[in-house]
Amino acid sequence: MALATIGLGANLGAPCENVERAIETLRELGVLTARSSLYRSAAWGKREQPEFINAVARIETALAPRALLASLQAIERRLGRVPGERWGPRAIDLDILLYDDLGFEDDALRIPHRELFERAFVLVPLAEIDASFEVWRDALPPVERATVERIVVPAE
Ligand code: AMP
Repeated sequence: MALATIGLGANLGAPCENVERAIETLRELGVLTARSSLYRSAAWGKREQPEFINAVARIETALAPRALLASLQAIERRLGRVPGERWGPRAIDLDILLYDDLGFEDDALRIPHRELFERAFVLVPLAEIDASFEVWRDALPPVERATVERIVVPAE
């Protein structure tokens, strides 16, 4: 079994519901061991689009990295994602952020995710569930961190 950290984002339709549904659907791929709150963040890359809802979750899974990516893409399609432009609006986006302590790169998959250590919308929720990332979150410029706001605390 491996511990996989998944980044979730949505900015179309009902983004909070989409992210919550995606987290629930991750249970089909393994055991959900942690999840962050939901966060609201300004759109990155292409700014003239709705703000994003982001979260991160951890699953203990028997799926190998490529099989996990394929399963996440199947969930994206089921939850209404249609192919769109890079950084454009999307109903749901699921990324593999980490997979145990694996470092891996091919044409379709890069682990750790290329944006892991750069983006406040990844590091802020990740630091909530894994204190070892607080140092990375705190290294972000304060203006970057300020673009990410915690909006929903999950029920215990
Ligand atoms: P996105 O638009 O964020 O869904 O990403 C598009 C492509 O990124 C996918 O088709 C993947 O092949 C590729 N990709 C590379 N590394 C990763 C990763 N760690 N997690 C998810 N997708 C990845």
